Amino acid sequence: MITLQNFIGGKMCPPQRGRYLDNYEPAKGQIYGQLPDSDASDVEAAIAAAQKAAPAWGKLSTQERSRYLMKVSERIQERLEELAQAESRDNGKPVKLARSVDIPRARDNFAFFATAILHQEDAFHAMGEHGFNYTLRQPLGTVACISPWNLPLYLFTWKICPALAAGNAVVAKPSEVSPYTAYLLGEICQEVGFPAGVLNIVHGRGSKVGEALVKHTAIKAISFTGGTQTGARIAELAAPQFKKLSLELGGKNPNLIFADCDLERAISVSARASFANQGQICLCGSRILIEASIYEEFKKGFLEKVAQLTVGPPHQEEVQMGALVSAAHRDKVLQYIDLARQEGGTVLCGGHALPQPAPYDQGYYLAPTVIEDLPQACRTNSEEIFGPVVTLQPFSSEEEALAKANATEYGLAATVFTQDVNRAHRVAAHLQSGIVWINDWLVRDLRTPFGGMKNSGVGREGGFEALHFFTEAKNVCLTVS
Ligand code: NDP
Repeated sequence: MITLQNFIGGKMCPPQRGRYLDNYEPAKGQIYGQLPDSDASDVEAAIAAAQKAAPAWGKLSTQERSRYLMKVSERIQERLEELAQAESRDNGKPVKLARSVDIPRARDNFAFFATAILHQEDAFHAMGEHGFNYTLRQPLGTVACISPWNLPLYLFTWKICPALAAGNAVVAKPSEVSPYTAYLLGEICQEVGFPAGVLNIVHGRGSKVGEALVKHTAIKAISFTGGTQTGARIAELAAPQFKKLSLELGGKNPNLIFADCDLERAISVSARASFANQGQICLCGSRILIEASIYEEFKKGFLEKVAQLTVGPPHQEEVQMGALVSAAHRDKVLQYIDLARQEGGTVLCGGHALPQPAPYDQGYYLAPTVIEDLPQACRTNSEEIFGPVVTLQPFSSEEEALAKANATEYGLAATVFTQDVNRAHRVAAHLQSGIVWINDWLVRDLRTPFGGMKNSGVGREGGFEALHFFTEAKNVCLTVS
């Protein structure tokens, strides 16, 4: 049994009230460890440590801060295989995915923001011979980062790194469902001599740890990734104190397939966009909209591709889809499949659990599921399922494709397959979504703005946008007399 601890003031600390939660291994459906069931008293201790550390950290030169962040990045690289195995065991994702995407990206998040601050320029506005203005970007002090379970270390570090690089002290809460690699990050900070109290990690439940953090008067900004309902609750709690908020929320992303596309590419990228990480990526394309003239051809090729996907225990190298993150989440996804049937949908493949041989027979495996015959205006096509379930819908014109694509309350990401460059730009401009990929999916350049519109969020992460979020801009005006 692995027992995790909070990381506060540079030390591993048990929860003050001594309570723990069970941590499950999704591949086996069994408890394999415990994590602190922390509460407001642990949050208080973490905030006190952060406030003590913040002034000195904020005053370090950018070069010094950069060096500390680079040390963490290098240590993540040295422990990459161990972190990948830990992520896969904790979350159920294929170890191959954790090794090639999740952990390298956590390493790169540190390196990216460590070097970004070395290249950052501050604004200067001349007023001719009358004088000039310059803008100071000062750290906020102590900030909170709250992350979800689907890309645990990847998203945790995506928030923490810009906050630290900008000179803030951080109190961070990973998801209680996948806390292990966040715990290991605390160990790494100790190993590289990261200054005590600059990064603090408190484990536990959103309702206790998350809310205590959000409400605390010392927290000046909150960077949150998670569900839309949770985002709304955080906004409600934070608003009276006028805290800065960055909210990255849910999605119901459309994937538009035009008849003039490279069909083979559209099929293989769509299969990845639908089922990577068991469909548990906020950017997954869960509604595939296909031009009517190629609907049957696309459907046949897509179903053939999906039939080739291997589902199984995530530590096996050949596995492409592992287990869903929890029994509760698997049951929620199965309920949505039942709902789709009630709404008149035809399940073309999957639609059921996929038991594995012992010792994985209690794991949370689901077959990749493809559904057709549903109108856009039904719950299956409007609500976020966040699992290995996609729907197919035909369209007859570009206008209809856009109308269907935009007919949800979400607006995170969209994918367009066409070889007509004019259409690609036209459609991209009219899609109500924060990110549009053309003929590809999940290609990420960390300098670009990342985030959603409508109920998918407020604000943008990535590049200098993230660094700006974690600073207070102060204009200094000097006139010449
Ligand atoms: P949740 O919203 O349930 O939880 C996210 C985090 O917030 C967890 O750490 C959770 O704690 C915490 N939390 C829960 N309630 C509160 C609260 N009242 N106050 C403060 N913190 C709270 O999301 P999931 O973890 O289920 O993640 C899946 C969701 O995340 C999906 O909707 C997905 O679309 C979205 N997501 C969005 C992304 C984006 O970039 N837009 C990227 C990835 C995911 P606890 O541990 O108790 O759950």
